[in-house]
Amino acid sequence: MVTTRPDTRHARSVAEAVPDPELPMLTLADLGVLRDVETTEDGTVVASLTPTYSGCPAMAEMRADVAARLRAAGYARVEIRTVLSPPWTSDWITESGRRKLAEHGIAPPGAAPRGPVPLVLSPTQRTVPCPRCGAADTEETSRFAATSCKALWRCRACREPFEYVKEI
Ligand SMILES: [Zn+2]
Repeated sequence: MVTTRPDTRHARSVAEAVPDPELPMLTLADLGVLRDVETTEDGTVVASLTPTYSGCPAMAEMRADVAARLRAAGYARVEIRTVLSPPWTSDWITESGRRKLAEHGIAPPGAAPRGPVPLVLSPTQRTVPCPRCGAADTEETSRFAATSCKALWRCRACREPFEYVKEI
C-alpha cells in the first residue's frame, strides 16, 4: 500500500477553523488551543492541542471535533495529542479572537497574572469595560456564567449584562 504524506498546510487550515465548543465565535486557532499540526511519512495528521482551563469539559469535545473535521476533509489517519506544557494562558487568545469576542458582546480577558500568584483573601479589583458601550462602570454579578471559563458581569451605564472570559 502506498501512502502519501498529507498536505500539512491544508490539514492545518482545516484544524485551525474548528470552532471552540464554548465560544463558537472563536476558532481553536483564535483561542490559541491548537498548538501544532504535523504530518508523518506514513500519512498521519498529528494535531497537538493544549487544554485551556484545567478540567475544562470542552477539551474532549475539541479533540473529537478536530479529529472529525480532519477525517471529513479526507485525512484517514488522524492523531490528536495533548500538550500540557507550557500551560495555556488567556494571553494566547489572538488579537482577532479578542475582536470577535467583543463583537459578540463578550469582554475579552485582561492580561494574565505573571509569575507566582499571591494568595489574597479579597478578590482582585479589576475593571472590565462594557463590550457594548465601553463604560467602565461595571460589576461582577456571578463568578461563573454558563461555562466555568466565563464570569457574568453587568454594565451600570447601559444596564446590559455581559459575559467576560476570565484571564488565567
Ligand atoms: Zn454598557
